[in-house]
Amino acid sequence: MRTPFIAGNWKMHKTVGEAVEAARKLEELVQGSPVEVAICAPFTSLAALSALGLSKVKLGAQNMYWADQGAFTGEISAAMLLDVGCEYVILGHSERRHIFKEDDELINKKVLQALQKGLKPILCVGETLEERRAGQTENVVVTQTTRGLAGVGADKLPTVVIAYEPVWAIGTGEYCDAADANQVIARIRQTLAELYSEELAQQVRIQYGGSVKPGNIREFMEQPEIDGALVGGASLDAEGFASIVRY
Ligand code: PEP
Repeated sequence: MRTPFIAGNWKMHKTVGEAVEAARKLEELVQGSPVEVAICAPFTSLAALSALGLSKVKLGAQNMYWADQGAFTGEISAAMLLDVGCEYVILGHSERRHIFKEDDELINKKVLQALQKGLKPILCVGETLEERRAGQTENVVVTQTTRGLAGVGADKLPTVVIAYEPVWAIGTGEYCDAADANQVIARIRQTLAELYSEELAQQVRIQYGGSVKPGNIREFMEQPEIDGALVGGASLDAEGFASIVRY
């Protein structure tokens, strides 16, 4: 049985004070939920959130660099994230791929480093609208999954979370039909079975992300292959996000 996992991606939002207030509220509102919950906050808020000592809400970052340390101005290492209480790190988010030109090779280096240091990557994959219209959705997610996981050992695979996030659905209010998302996620799981084994593929949690909100989360969670959600805009409000967690 895979434990459902719903994570919020706060992107470049919230000062430290705002983050602390939202996280405190969320912690109260989701107590007792069987869903695993995390917030992936901006780097600047992570230490303060960790100091709250939350028990239900876990912490994640939104990016990291693949080297241990060194002359990489502006970057953050896995050790730094562990030091401020992170358990998860989002890698390969479509905004990183498209705005910051990250490719599969770079994302793979980050995935390997995160796993080696003991962080759990949330590896994002997904097609653009153009790729979807060209019938390339499955090819794109299979390629991004395969390249993103290159060199990941079977022993580490169950700690990886994959987020299927169609690029056209991120922050647009337009979401993927739940049955379609289920089918794409089934294809991702089949890829894992081909790369590793059916048994291991069944252990990996695969989330849907893209304009998830309180009114549509249940449709996604009812699908057999969808194990949770990565939520952007709708995770910023603690009450709204809590109602997603309590779908
Ligand atoms: C995201 O940032 O990963 C995301 C899915 O954003 P939104 O929920 O706002 O579409």
